Amino acid sequence: MKITEEDIASAGDLSAINELVSKCERCALYKTKTKDVPGVGSENADVMFIGEAPGKDEDLQGEPFVGRAGQLLTELIEGLGRERKDVYIANVLKHRPPSNRDPLPEEAEMCWPFLKQQIKIIDPKLIIFLGRHAMNRFYPTLKISECHGKAFRKELYFEGLDSRLRGNDRGGRKQVFLALYHPAVALYNGNMKKTLQEDFSKIPKILKKINEENLNNNNEDTPTLRSGQAKIEQTKLF
Ligand code: URA
Repeated sequence: MKITEEDIASAGDLSAINELVSKCERCALYKTKTKDVPGVGSENADVMFIGEAPGKDEDLQGEPFVGRAGQLLTELIEGLGRERKDVYIANVLKHRPPSNRDPLPEEAEMCWPFLKQQIKIIDPKLIIFLGRHAMNRFYPTLKISECHGKAFRKELYFEGLDSRLRGNDRGGRKQVFLALYHPAVALYNGNMKKTLQEDFSKIPKILKKINEENLNNNNEDTPTLRSGQAKIEQTKLF
């Protein structure tokens, strides 16, 4: 079925998005998928994790991060005293690329309106990139080896965003991001795992700073650099 960007932008809640994902033929991945993997967790989550794409386990179960990398992610979330249901977990792609190959740029582009609408609806305080594919969707030139454990802020633009949705009059909204290594990389490398654990332990401090300093405040007039994909103000915060 032809799902347009406008269809996706008018989805009012996560179940409406999930419904559209289940009918989506915007790229060819629907032909080889088993299940849809739109995302899982709370619509009111203050933290949203974004990975790359569903793997074999996720494709079979219809839920992101349920394989070995997912078990590590779950342990790390639980280490913060939280549960998976308290956060939201999604991927850049909502359907599995065959043989777990990297997402193609055109697949990520076709899937982008879904991710954007999920962000608009959930309105998380903090978005956490799990690996370079997620990070490069928002910050195309940054390298995960240089940016992991660091938080950034930029303005995201949404069609029809208004003040009820924390928007400013430019249709934009400030968003804080944290970049982390992908948990799959940490599975086979003890040093990476230690780094991931250390970076993960910064999450409570970053959330505290966001709350105390009102870092999602849209009224602050910061200069914006509009770039093609995510239209960004690049401010390194920590
Ligand atoms: N890796 C990802 O990036 N996403 C998943 O859902 C599982 C593994």
